[in-house]
Amino acid sequence: MKGVSFTGKSGVGGLFARLMKRAGMQPWSERDLAEYKLVVASLFSSPASIIQGAIAGVVTPWICWLATQNILFAELTGLMLVIALMRVAIMVLYRQHAHEADDFAATRRWDLAFLTGASIFSATLGFCCFAALVWTRDAGAHVTAVAVTIAFASGFVARNAGRPGFVMLQLLAASLPLALGLFNAHDSDYRPIGYFAFLFIATNIGITLSVHRNLMALAAATKAGARLTEALGQQNITLDAALNNMVHGLAMFDRSLGLQLCNMHHRNLFELPETLGVAGTSIASTVRHLIERKVMRPDHVRELRQAMEQVFVKGAPVSFELTTTAGKIYAVSLSPADKGGILMLTEDATRRKETQARVEHMARYDELTGLANRFELGAMLEASCRKLKDGGKPFSVLYIDLDGFKQVNDTLGHDVGDQVLFETARRLRMAVRHGDVLARFGGDEFVLIHEDATLATAQTVARHIIEVMAAPFILDNRLLHVTASAGIAMAPEHSSDAGDLLRHADTALYKAKAAGRNRFAVFTPQMAEEVRDRQELESDLRAACSNDTLSLHYQGIIDFKSQKIVSCEALMRWKHPTRGMVPPGIFIPIAEQCGLILPMGEFAIRRACADAALWDSDASVAVNVSPMQFREPNKLIATIKDALLTSGLPARRLTLEVTESLLIEDKQATLDAIRELRRIGVRFSLDDFGTGYSSLGYLSTYPFSQVKIDQSFARDVTTNPASKAVIEAVCQLARNLGMQVVVEGIETDEQRIAIQLIGAERGQGYLFCRPAPPETFMPMRIKAA
Ligand code: C2E
Ligand code: MG
Ligand code: MG
Repeated sequence: MKGVSFTGKSGVGGLFARLMKRAGMQPWSERDLAEYKLVVASLFSSPASIIQGAIAGVVTPWICWLATQNILFAELTGLMLVIALMRVAIMVLYRQHAHEADDFAATRRWDLAFLTGASIFSATLGFCCFAALVWTRDAGAHVTAVAVTIAFASGFVARNAGRPGFVMLQLLAASLPLALGLFNAHDSDYRPIGYFAFLFIATNIGITLSVHRNLMALAAATKAGARLTEALGQQNITLDAALNNMVHGLAMFDRSLGLQLCNMHHRNLFELPETLGVAGTSIASTVRHLIERKVMRPDHVRELRQAMEQVFVKGAPVSFELTTTAGKIYAVSLSPADKGGILMLTEDATRRKETQARVEHMARYDELTGLANRFELGAMLEASCRKLKDGGKPFSVLYIDLDGFKQVNDTLGHDVGDQVLFETARRLRMAVRHGDVLARFGGDEFVLIHEDATLATAQTVARHIIEVMAAPFILDNRLLHVTASAGIAMAPEHSSDAGDLLRHADTALYKAKAAGRNRFAVFTPQMAEEVRDRQELESDLRAACSNDTLSLHYQGIIDFKSQKIVSCEALMRWKHPTRGMVPPGIFIPIAEQCGLILPMGEFAIRRACADAALWDSDASVAVNVSPMQFREPNKLIATIKDALLTSGLPARRLTLEVTESLLIEDKQATLDAIRELRRIGVRFSLDDFGTGYSSLGYLSTYPFSQVKIDQSFARDVTTNPASKAVIEAVCQLARNLGMQVVVEGIETDEQRIAIQLIGAERGQGYLFCRPAPPETFMPMRIKAA
């Protein structure tokens, strides 16, 4: 710690410092700079007293000189004048100077300058007094010197009690020579007064220290008071801020339910004016306000009052919810507070409750359709099964699935898909009985739990659902045909287990789909067997795609006139490891349903092109293409172009056989793809004509170069005039459109003759050749390498 004065550890300075410490007076430190500067400023604060003192100081030796004519006093007068002028100069300098920026050292310099001036002044005055008493016999000089010195000494004590060290120094400088002078005066009567002078010094030191201590104590008390006031103020501000920044409304009531304090949030929540938020407000006036202003319904306010009473009775916290007339939900908790009061915390839980309700709803209901979701359905189905076991009535489970929804989604986008699902849900809701559980199981699958059902009622509901779903959808000014298929499982007839019932209904649905969609099927145990079998085939087929058990056989198409093979149809073959040859009529639909037709179709195109490129013939190769492959037209086009390029087969030698089902969808993309392939030279053949819609319109709309009449017509061409008429009509039309006609499935010569007589130019059938592997496919010779 750096002291300004008396900081030395030894000598008079050190002794003084120790004395000061014992007297409770600490030297100044840098930490007290502001205070120190104030004290120093106070030394220079009264120029009048310094000037008056200077005059008195100069006048004293001057009077002594006049009275004694002793030259010493003349010299002392001069010295005093110099000292006085110096002190005045220091004071003027100090006052001209701005002291805000003074550091500790500068302040100390001013302090020392004043101290030095004042001490020299006191010592000179004291010496003048001593000289007057010891070296003169003039009573006037004695009285003047002693009176002025004592007056000065007393003045120091009064004026500078804040600087006790300084006072003592001045006191000793002025009073010690006075005392010594009195002892050594010519007049021995002065000696006793000398003792009084020492007593005067001692008393003044005592007074100085005491006044200083009191001053310090007062200053400390003032400071502490100020600090306390500031701290309390700060605490109040913090408390206010804390209360008003709470997310909860807070109010404290005393034992008689008078308000002690509340925060702004509490007032806002209960729409209380400022006057009802002040301490001392009775609960009665608050209640009146809540009812009169219709903030809350009277019964809810009563509830609040009762809850408060309950806290008093029980002495335990009470929590409850309050609803305002505006529909807000407040979570209120009342707890016993100190001195029998109540602490009330109110939270606006409206948003939280809404979110909670939304989350709960979302967890149980489908967002898009508003129907129960699969979890809720699971719970309801379990409940129905439990009821059944407890003697409840039979019920049915309907598994409903949209036909071709994936295609809607893929081609028209998810927005249209969502609209279809929304509309489906609406139609289903209208179609089912109130009380039945309708759920969206996921994707385009819906499940209905039809309570209190018989097989007949379940079938009626299914029929009705299929009927309402068959009506066209009008979405975005577009007409869409989306049908539905359904599977029915009966409880307890088929099972009493929720999982089994769902599975069985799904199995029945599968059957309905396989049977042609837009229909329903009722579960039978045999179905489960079939489905299992089919699933097994599906996984085996998946394996077959990658292990080379798929191959192509070829069957020739004969030109009746030339008796030559003009084209060969590629027909896929699958040799199952355990089942042997699986007919395409079985595995192609499976492949179409599970998407495997895409890699399989690509395989057929590439292999057929490669094989045909090796034939020593100009015959074209006909590859069957599934409508599924046209769903990715660009990929199909790219595959075909690549297959032609890599095999070197001219495009005109490739024919693609498509069925009417491709054309029913009447999609621009399909037509574009067909046109694009036609442009590069690939030909198209309409396969199995006469089995589907048999729209002759397709023949003129699409650029087919050939139409193949389904084998069912060849089979009874000799016996059924209608079949004969169809072949005749198609031949006529085809000729007009410049197309070739192929009649499939000719097995006998009679059939061939009849067909030839009708006018068909080409035929295909066992009569001419059976499908055979490329290596034994006789009418073609493999090109010599
Ligand atoms: P499809 O395109 O109409 O092929 C003609 C079918 O008739 C072939 O049956 C062929 O073996 C059979 N057939 C030919 N002549 C006669 C006959 O005189 N009598 C009888 N009863 N049948 C005859 P297959 O090979 O069983 O193929 C059945 C169907 O599977 C094909 O009918 C075609 O729709 C489909 N298919 C075959 N291979 C493929 C393929 O690579 N891709 C696609 N997408 N479908 C294929
Ligand atoms: Mg075909
Ligand atoms: Mg065919």
